[in-house]
Amino acid sequence: MTSRHHDWFDVAQICLNGHLVNPQVVAAPDLNQDFCVRCGARTITACEQCRTPIPGASRIPGILSPSDASRPAYCPGCGSPFPWTEQRLLQAYALADDLEQLTPKERELLKQSIDELLADGPHAQLASVRFKKLVAKAGVQAAASFQEILVSIVSEAVRRLIWGA
Ligand SMILES: [Zn+2]
Ligand SMILES: [Zn+2]
Repeated sequence: MTSRHHDWFDVAQICLNGHLVNPQVVAAPDLNQDFCVRCGARTITACEQCRTPIPGASRIPGILSPSDASRPAYCPGCGSPFPWTEQRLLQAYALADDLEQLTPKERELLKQSIDELLADGPHAQLASVRFKKLVAKAGVQAAASFQEILVSIVSEAVRRLIWGA
């Protein structure tokens, strides 16, 4: 591991459900907590797969840390989804599997679109169109549930593509 994170960003402590507990583990270790005060879940400061520290608050004015806008969804060291991302991804899949308004093929397409939206790669634009179409077919209630699950783990750009804000 390089020291890049330590130079530019502090380290963040985040609970397994995704609550930011301490954005400055190095600068303010007194604020560390083994368990989240909001939900009681265990907290982590590094990826559990590769031990790369979770990027925390920015140390350089003008440089935005991945945690400044929202908590990071994927590990910068190995690309694994963080536990809170994986949890929401599984929730979104389960919801998609439950949508009786959609055909089995449409449900698979919807899950694939969710993957592509989270990855925010070259297919995100197309995926957002497909996602909106399928979710509209699934109904208002489903749309609201998907928004609640996904809004905090997709990127700013994807959020704007789907929800326009
Ligand atoms: Zn929590
Ligand atoms: Zn990792």
